[in-house]
Amino acid sequence: MEQKLKAILSEAEQALSRTDNLDQLNEIRVRFLGKKGLLTSVLRGMGSLAPEERPRVGQLANDVRARIESVLEERMATIKEQVKKEKLAAERIDVTLPGTPFPAGRRHPLSIVEEEIEDIFLGMGYSIEEGPEIELDFYNFEALNLPKDHPARDMQDSFFIGPEVLLRTHTSPVQVRTMERTAPVLPVRIIAPGKVYRRDDDATHSPMFHQVEGLAIDRRVTFGDLKGTLQVFAEKMFGPQTRTRFRPSYFPFTEPSAEVDISCGMCGGKGCRVCSDTGWLEILGCGMVHPRVLEVSGYNPEEVTGFAFGMGVERIAMLKYNIDDMRLLFDNDLRFLAQF
Ligand SMILES: [Zn+2]
Repeated sequence: MEQKLKAILSEAEQALSRTDNLDQLNEIRVRFLGKKGLLTSVLRGMGSLAPEERPRVGQLANDVRARIESVLEERMATIKEQVKKEKLAAERIDVTLPGTPFPAGRRHPLSIVEEEIEDIFLGMGYSIEEGPEIELDFYNFEALNLPKDHPARDMQDSFFIGPEVLLRTHTSPVQVRTMERTAPVLPVRIIAPGKVYRRDDDATHSPMFHQVEGLAIDRRVTFGDLKGTLQVFAEKMFGPQTRTRFRPSYFPFTEPSAEVDISCGMCGGKGCRVCSDTGWLEILGCGMVHPRVLEVSGYNPEEVTGFAFGMGVERIAMLKYNIDDMRLLFDNDLRFLAQF
């Protein structure tokens, strides 16, 4: 039995010297010292020894156990220390390495163009107004001279969310809201940028798009003032060589009304694919504020006149950057957006 105990001790010491991880160490502990371990099974045989031998062998067994435990502890401490050192070595920070790239964001082309439009009109003495995107039928249609049975309502297929409530189809309701608040104070010079909504969806239409509305009210405002203002805008937005052309048109809330074209920047007006060989590109609608709109909004059409215009921000951006599909502006493709 003494031989067996000594053999167990040397076997345990050898096993411990060969191991280098904590899992193995635990297996060794179980194999030698566990309830079903080698040392325990030897001790079970104590009963067969002569009574006078038992104390000596018992003492030896205790020594073996203590020895194995202490070697085990020592080994465990060494391995733990080693693991810690390896971790520290792996995690050492080399401050001379190049950093992780963190690409800076940039502004969306629509934001760039909208801000440019705002800057141009701020420079001409306009201020910026905002209105609700969920609008009352009254402001979106009725007050703009579009009563319930008016056929021009069909041009603006709308998202109604209640009998008298809809997503605004244009920024023109801000005209009425502003005049209601300011009347009878003069002059009024505002632009109103914002989102508008219509039931359209194809390469040149999106159900949500952006407009900038403009409104100027004062005594003796003329169509000449409107032309001059928009000519200045076109030159600042598209370059000093840009010419404008006014074509008669119809809007219920202006009289007379006009569509405005700019000379094609691609061909300089000679005619090309972009302008369908006409040399001109349509950019906005405008006109003199209809007397009935002035009246509803609290101004006396006998005393004051005004002009209004509305432009699509997407349209301006597409012309400025030569983009041929409006959906690119809403696809969130960074390869496209990173170019601006
Ligand atoms: Zn052209």
